Amino acid sequence: MRWFKLNSPRLHGLLLFLGALACVFALHVSAVNSQTVHSELARFRPIEVWRPAHETNFGKRYAKDIYGRPAQNEPIVVLHETVVSAASTIRFFQTPHYNEADQASYHDLITRNGTVVHFVSRKNRAFGAGNSVFRGPNGPEAVKTHRIYPASVNNFAYHISLETPADGNHNGNHHSGYTQAQYRSLAWLVTQSKIPANRVTTHKGVDRSGSRKDPRSFNQRTFNSLFNRFSQLNQTKTVSLPPATFAGPELSD
Ligand SMILES: [Zn+2]
Repeated sequence: MRWFKLNSPRLHGLLLFLGALACVFALHVSAVNSQTVHSELARFRPIEVWRPAHETNFGKRYAKDIYGRPAQNEPIVVLHETVVSAASTIRFFQTPHYNEADQASYHDLITRNGTVVHFVSRKNRAFGAGNSVFRGPNGPEAVKTHRIYPASVNNFAYHISLETPADGNHNGNHHSGYTQAQYRSLAWLVTQSKIPANRVTTHKGVDRSGSRKDPRSFNQRTFNSLFNRFSQLNQTKTVSLPPATFAGPELSD
């Protein structure tokens, strides 16, 4: 037992060697894991379906506001949650609403399993956030497009909503949050829009009525981490992806 006497240089050597071996192994496992995640993200495409909103629930984007001034704001992303189920939301947007006060829509919705439901083309104006303003690096931005209703961000907004979990169907401040599949589809979708991170906001963030707090229980860190990784993949991509099942028009007007 001379070999394993405490303080023996051989014992120290052996421990150092085993420690180094464990480190190399851990690094290898983590590199393999991150490579697997990386290639999974590179190949990722969500399932996408079209459920067109009724034409009463959205409009055209205007080139000028009601005073005739050019309205050429860069686009922003506004994140929402549905509060009710995806099925109820789809039904509501596909129902004709001839009363202007009832008209509402998002461009896209992400269901609990990560499916992207398209309602309104990004080239059109979805009615997602009336009475709102975006306070970004260029100062407050809102466009008045209606004689009666207050100015809003709708003219340059891309509205994306997350389906709320079943325990969130109330007016409280919290619920159990969104699925990983939803965060992944959301990060992918926002990356595809090419709208920069400093122009991604929430309904709560742009609301002026003081009544909107969505998306509640949103994990900003999870979203940021996935968004950064998709953005890096997009920058380093040398081979173009196969044609998309949904070729959404760019938000250009
Ligand atoms: Zn909202």
